Amino acid sequence: MTILLGKSRSELMAWAVQMGQPAFRGKQVHEWIYGKGVSQLEEISVLPKQWRENLQGVKVGRSQVLHQVRAGDGTEKFLLQLEDGKIIETVGIPTNKRLTVCVSTQVGCPMGCRFCATGKGGWQRNLAEHEIIDQVLTVQQQMQRRVTHLVFMGMGEPLLNLESVLGAIQSLHQDVGISQRHMTISTVGIPQKIAQLATYDLQVTLAVSLHAPTQELRRRLIPAADRYPLDRLISDCQDYVTKTGRRVSFEYTLLAGVNDTRECALRLAQLVRGFQSHVNLIPYNPIGVADFQRPTVRAVAQFRQILEQEKVAVSVRRTRGLEADAACGQLRGRYQEFREN
Ligand code: SAH
Ligand code: SF4
Repeated sequence: MTILLGKSRSELMAWAVQMGQPAFRGKQVHEWIYGKGVSQLEEISVLPKQWRENLQGVKVGRSQVLHQVRAGDGTEKFLLQLEDGKIIETVGIPTNKRLTVCVSTQVGCPMGCRFCATGKGGWQRNLAEHEIIDQVLTVQQQMQRRVTHLVFMGMGEPLLNLESVLGAIQSLHQDVGISQRHMTISTVGIPQKIAQLATYDLQVTLAVSLHAPTQELRRRLIPAADRYPLDRLISDCQDYVTKTGRRVSFEYTLLAGVNDTRECALRLAQLVRGFQSHVNLIPYNPIGVADFQRPTVRAVAQFRQILEQEKVAVSVRRTRGLEADAACGQLRGRYQEFREN
């Protein structure tokens, strides 16, 4: 089976030649699969009919939209069915000037974070490169606007599927036309992988999901953190800043009475001080099956104030679209910050 999504213009030209066609046919295929967003080769009407009919075993690589939910503020969540029947979520978040898409990188996730719906469901498989690109094209088509921004904050841990994520970043940049500076990879941290990421000379933003200022508390919330001591994670982030010259952003999901105390805020400030970083506070979005509570607006404001007093760059992710998105397990909690404030 040959999948075309993910191939560059020159790769498609080479493929066309290999198939006994002139190279410009590859250019046409490129224009139709990325530009017009066709899901079937038969739809590419400029290709000779005879060739189209002989292209068995070649697919564009698009998924099917199974279900769609729209929130009052325009946010739309899509459930997509992949070729093997597995289902993933992707979200489109519109503002005046932007359309941000929140993409999944795995079916499920093996990291098991206690407050995360995906983590509770376990891991099934990694997504292929074309399955990541497809999510962006689908949101673009369904919402009838160009996608301008991309966050790897859907289901799954991107650094456990780095090869497909890197391939998708390249194609989304070159073939779909989204600037790397408008992309954010969010990770809970995988040993060696942050260092590896730093070697690729990417323009994307790195967001690290911290959620706790001590190893003891962190491993209670993120069982997989057992294999990655907090001081090593932080020093890998510092190295990342030194090597890439780009600041790291830390995500901190606030869980009432668990990690939102004054002491936690002070320790967090100590941890992230001294290098180019930024903290995003995310008030926990209840997922039903977890035993956590969302902190009050006041508690969030106090936590933020302590960080500000400690000279930490901090923002609070606004929760919008939440009410209409009740069916959503996990995605709903983490995209709002990437809207324009
Ligand atoms: N696996 C990666 C990316 C996907 S999760 C990571 O963990 O970073 C993206 C973000 O959503 C993470 O910061 C995660 O902590 C947050 N998140 C997950 N469940 C949440 C919930 N119920 N409420 C608020 N944020 C949540
Ligand atoms: Fe996986 Fe991220 Fe959910 Fe943790 S928060 S279980 S790493 S998707």
